[in-house]
Amino acid sequence: MADTTLMDKLVSLCKRRGFIFQSSEIYGGLGSVWDYGPLGVELKKNVKDRWWHAMVHARDDIEGLDAAILMHPKVWEASGHVAGFTDPLVDCRHCKNRFRADDPRIKGTPGQPDAQCPVCGSKGTLTEPRLFNLMFKTFMGPVEEQAAVVYLRPETAQGIYVNYLNVLNSSRQKVPFGIAQIGKAFRNEITPGNFIFRTREFEQMEMQFFVKPGTDVEWFERWRGWRMEWCQGLGLTSAKLRFHQHGPDELAHYAKDAFDIQYEFPFGWQEIEGVHNRTDFDLGRHQQYSGKKLEYFDQAANERYVPYIVETSAGADRVTLTVMVDAYREEQVEGEVRVVLGFHPALAPIKAGVFPLVKKDGMPELATEVYHALKRRFPAFYDDSGAIGRRYRRMDEAGTPFCITIDGETIANRSITVRHRDSMKQDRVGLDRLEAYLGDHLAV
Ligand code: ATP
Repeated sequence: MADTTLMDKLVSLCKRRGFIFQSSEIYGGLGSVWDYGPLGVELKKNVKDRWWHAMVHARDDIEGLDAAILMHPKVWEASGHVAGFTDPLVDCRHCKNRFRADDPRIKGTPGQPDAQCPVCGSKGTLTEPRLFNLMFKTFMGPVEEQAAVVYLRPETAQGIYVNYLNVLNSSRQKVPFGIAQIGKAFRNEITPGNFIFRTREFEQMEMQFFVKPGTDVEWFERWRGWRMEWCQGLGLTSAKLRFHQHGPDELAHYAKDAFDIQYEFPFGWQEIEGVHNRTDFDLGRHQQYSGKKLEYFDQAANERYVPYIVETSAGADRVTLTVMVDAYREEQVEGEVRVVLGFHPALAPIKAGVFPLVKKDGMPELATEVYHALKRRFPAFYDDSGAIGRRYRRMDEAGTPFCITIDGETIANRSITVRHRDSMKQDRVGLDRLEAYLGDHLAV
């Protein structure tokens, strides 16, 4: 399968099966904004739940938080986003398209007569680069004036920094400890694209770990390792994951060291998560801009300091895309193409499909009973329409790991078949053992 077509196939499967739809599609869509359908919302939720479990529930040194999207505008001055969260852009005066100044398709130097527009091909029509802030602005209250400007947050991290003392004082935590948050972020990206890889509205899964200065390097190394393990634990192909360390020209102004976890997408190696040593930059700046002390007092050592921060920052949508790209495969089965989303069972939106072999002889009634019993434990799907092979294929495309068929033997001896998505092998299992059987196979 040519890699360029894989993304097209995935986009169409996502629409067909109800994973992801274009936002406001009946109005022609809205640029790089996407909606999650019934299966997509489950898949993304499973990604987020797995992250939350690993970061908050399974550890005793991290607390959860859900800060608001709207924050005091000074937050973004302190964070450096008002002054620095910008991309240099050029416009074509002829076709009115807008590009990043470093767009590799531009020939010549923007602003000079030799520069050529990559879309309409006109020469000398590209403007000088101008800085464009990526934050979405809106107004708070009834008056649309400069004093009422607020921003949609471009990252969730700042909500954690400004709440760090609140969490510390209301929990039993001591440094080193972390705060984790999952939430929406907004960036007016100039070159969005590649489906949900880069969108203007997205969700982040961020964790900020507060440590004593001097211990930051060892914590940074630990978190780098743990985060890679988590990515591997999603069932992603190991050979398609790697670290990329930021060189001096890539490092953000606040960072002492930074590694991206990259995945090899059909469109190249790209970041799915960043692990950053942010030093005391963030708390230092908020201390300065708010005039409030943000020091930590270590009672045992009787010392005060502004903690250093190790950040792990992943995109929920980007990880969801990674999981889908990695899971997609096509196989030749009996002269037909079988499309499978081979999700890790914990991530699969539907865990089991339940089918009566035929619509008679008490099979639909028993299948309905089995379906309702399973649905109390996990998402299941009932299907009695079409040939059994077609029903299996539909579940393969949805990434459902197990299909349960109620047939003549079920009625006779209360046993069913469980068909495994990946091997297509079938096991005969007693009905009374079904829940335990699935539980064992899903517990991963
Ligand atoms: P990129 O270089 O890809 O723009 P970034 O370095 O700006 O990303 P961070 O600010 O470190 O990204 O954000 C952390 C994570 O948030 C990224 O690893 C990515 O998974 C996710 N993310 C960032 N921007 C977007 C976006 N526009 N759409 C979807 N996910 C995003």
